[in-house]
Amino acid sequence: MTDTIRAVRGMKDLLPPESRRWQQVEAVSREIFARYGYQEIRLPLLERTELFARSIGADTDIVAKEMYTFTDRHGDSLTLRPEATAQVVRAYLENGLHLGAGVKKFFTIGPMFRYERPQKGRYRQFHQINGEALGVDVPELDVEVILLLLDILKHLGLRDLELLINSLGCPVCQVDFKARLTIFLARREGWCDDCLRRRAANPLRVLDCKSQNCQALLMEAPLLRDCLDDDCRRHYDRVLELLSRFGVPYTEQPRLVRGLDYYTRTAFEVTAGGLGAQDAVAGGGRYNGLVKELGGPDLPGIGFAIGQDRLMEILPEQDSPAPPRIFLAALGPPARETAFSLLRELRRQGLAAEFDFQDRSLKAQLSLANRLGASFTVILGDRELAQGRVLVRRMDGGEQQTLPLDGLAAALAALIAREKDEHRV
Ligand SMILES: [Zn+2]
Ligand SMILES: [Zn+2]
Repeated sequence: MTDTIRAVRGMKDLLPPESRRWQQVEAVSREIFARYGYQEIRLPLLERTELFARSIGADTDIVAKEMYTFTDRHGDSLTLRPEATAQVVRAYLENGLHLGAGVKKFFTIGPMFRYERPQKGRYRQFHQINGEALGVDVPELDVEVILLLLDILKHLGLRDLELLINSLGCPVCQVDFKARLTIFLARREGWCDDCLRRRAANPLRVLDCKSQNCQALLMEAPLLRDCLDDDCRRHYDRVLELLSRFGVPYTEQPRLVRGLDYYTRTAFEVTAGGLGAQDAVAGGGRYNGLVKELGGPDLPGIGFAIGQDRLMEILPEQDSPAPPRIFLAALGPPARETAFSLLRELRRQGLAAEFDFQDRSLKAQLSLANRLGASFTVILGDRELAQGRVLVRRMDGGEQQTLPLDGLAAALAALIAREKDEHRV
């Protein structure tokens, strides 16, 4: 016997009925994005490795250890995207979307890839819902992006959302901060090997070390917000002021950095009830240097990513009935012929209809109808057909009625419409 082939470690099949919930989450997200004027872009999963090395930063965990990078048959180094922002900026520049004044808003939904240790709720192929707004650097836009993110999460039914926020300053502020941090890091002992390496290459990256020991040492580290210049301070204060005005509770988190090099000014994360405090369901921030870093003009940007896999784990169980379905149970060859034509007619009327392709007993067919969650089963037997009639059975109560075969599709459509009105299905 040949062994069956299994999926790649860390990659997960998404099966019904769970896939239906994913569709609903994406539909809600699309609707809210549209409300805020964000348009969808769909991007390839593969990019040149250089795009991520240049944007995310060579010293980040992502680029140093987690990317799926390989050489293609032509000898080019390609990488499965580990995140979306760099890619959105690449597409924005390559397609001239940056030309013309004003803010450009995009969203994209899809899988990302990182070679991490697989654990509960974390996969090597994971999924994100991303929103990005490019071209304008004003605090009002930062707030709009945060409101958009919270709106999506609230419409999905998440409760106990907590917004954590910080300012990472501009590159000028960061030079000052880096100098202070470097001194601090040199004066302490006990950093892990990774941090010793980071300390020399890019001290900011020490801040997102996952080692508890390093995190404890960092409790006394200098804070970015103490290094903000006047412009960055004003920007941050205005963001906080607007959040208060809109009644959005927030917690300032002076040690919040994001695991990527390109963030500037506003950085934020959102946690939700059901996840650990460390486990954000979404995060984002401003990335004012990124467009220029990737060879474009000096245009600012801000965005967020929702971790869809983790989101799905904490979504409240929702009562989301499948659309009403009609099952056709046919007994005997002539009835099956009629049923097969009727199936086509019902679907043309916009109804979801199914039938048993295996020609089994009525009992087996009814049990299939139940399994499929049918609202009504139409029973077609030879005797009824000879009289031009069928039996229609309501599956939740069992009541039956006889309907004429002539005009049956329209009659069933009316029945389903009435059900929907009465919220019975
Ligand atoms: Zn600054
Ligand atoms: Zn460390």
